[in-house]
Amino acid sequence: MFPEFTLRYARLPERFYLHFDPVPVKAPRLVAFNRPLAEQLGFDLAAFDEALDEGQASEAFAGNAVPDGAEPLAQAYAGHQFGHFNPRLGDGRAVLLGEVTDREGVLRDIQLKGAGCTPFSRGADGRAPLGPVLREYLVSEAMHTLGIPTTRALAAVTTGERVFRRVPEPGAVLTRVASSHLRVGTFQYFAARDDEEALRILADLTIERHYPDLAAQPPETRYLALVEAVLARQARLVAGWMGLGFIHGVMNTDNISVAGETIDYGPCAFMEAYDPEQVFSSIDEGGRYAYRNQPWVAQWNLARFAETLIPLIDDDADRAVERATALIQAYPDRYEAEWLAVMREKLGLEQAEEGDHELVEAFLEAMKAGQADFTLAFRTLADAVESGAGEDPSRGEGEAALLGLFESREAIEAWLPRWRERLAREEVDPAVIAARLRSVNPLYIPRNHKVEEALAAAVEGDFAPFEALREVLARPFEAQPGHQAYAMPAPATEAVFRTFC
Ligand code: AMP
Ligand code: MG
Ligand code: MG
Repeated sequence: MFPEFTLRYARLPERFYLHFDPVPVKAPRLVAFNRPLAEQLGFDLAAFDEALDEGQASEAFAGNAVPDGAEPLAQAYAGHQFGHFNPRLGDGRAVLLGEVTDREGVLRDIQLKGAGCTPFSRGADGRAPLGPVLREYLVSEAMHTLGIPTTRALAAVTTGERVFRRVPEPGAVLTRVASSHLRVGTFQYFAARDDEEALRILADLTIERHYPDLAAQPPETRYLALVEAVLARQARLVAGWMGLGFIHGVMNTDNISVAGETIDYGPCAFMEAYDPEQVFSSIDEGGRYAYRNQPWVAQWNLARFAETLIPLIDDDADRAVERATALIQAYPDRYEAEWLAVMREKLGLEQAEEGDHELVEAFLEAMKAGQADFTLAFRTLADAVESGAGEDPSRGEGEAALLGLFESREAIEAWLPRWRERLAREEVDPAVIAARLRSVNPLYIPRNHKVEEALAAAVEGDFAPFEALREVLARPFEAQPGHQAYAMPAPATEAVFRTFC
């Protein structure tokens, strides 16, 4: 059933990980499986269907049976958690089964999350509750569909065991697929031990897997180029998040992939009414990882990454610091360019003009003033383009729909003519612009109350709402008849203010 394992990480020196077999669970039951992804990874689906009949698929994705050729291990890493450095975190509840080569020839990690206590568990239970497993499943797959680099969800299994959080909850195991699980924290682990040899191995592995073009560079430039490449991908990633109103929730350095993928979905959420200060995570009391802080937290994390590579960047430490610092200082410009590229698209603009940043900011400010739903405000721009401006009282229907999203309209009324003027200079047919807008501004995102509703039902044994949500989110840019409710913000009584992981 599983494709052939490559075992790249398991062939690294022993100090990179601890061999560790998943701890079997009582009564595994496969509750979600991602067939298209399995196919892409080279799974034998006929064998899978047979294994499913015999219960072997559930056993495999629960970690009760280690697939042939896998060598399960827990990866070592460190990390800054809410700004405080912990030199030894590591996989406390996840095991890497190994790597497989997907149909495009790319190596992908296959990991079981919630697979039991490892030597890195630090007194915690090594397990995952069903709710967070399904949230990661839904949101990571939605992010992928929305075009954001991310880890993927291959399968979810319930364990037949309880895990204890605020209340007892059904346990689950998520099978996660990633380009790799190499984190900023992995580099920090070895930097904290002054293990230059390990850092070089790790940097070269990162280059091999994620930035192969850099492999040809001599060591004198290679590692600084790696910092720059990681920085570029991180800037693009966070710009993508900002364009969707996505709040990761726990941007600790151990949750930052050097491949530039979104990883470790915990108390993540999408904002509804636009509020740059928005925080959902119950553990983020200071608002460190609020929506508007994300780009700057990313920069801070990248500085921590660069620090780990100082010994490799230049034999002269001062010069290495100087060169790395210059890159980190160039990040805001890099981020601004990525953000503006995302936002221009979201406003239907193809060309670049001087005042575009202000135009975007003014739209966001209008949303803030009018407490407009972030996703719908962008989505409805397409309608406004299509129906033209219209004069009162017969204002265009589309524009009326847009205005209808704003509780106070002064700012948005002032903004619309500015935007229309700017659009006119593009000299593109409105129908074309509208189509373009609808291809980048989703109608459906994983609305928090819909996600919570699906998780709550699943915990009670009803997976129908989870399946329904998954199906809607598979086509986020396309209006789906009968599914209007999935596009709407939460009614006041159902609004989600806090998420837990
Ligand atoms: P996170 O905040 O989920 O990214 O996790 C931070 C660290 O805590 C990582 O080392 C995790 O492996 C570990 N961890 C989180 N939850 C658990 C758990 N239930 N049992 C053991 N380790 C955990
Ligand atoms: Mg080994
Ligand atoms: Mg983590």
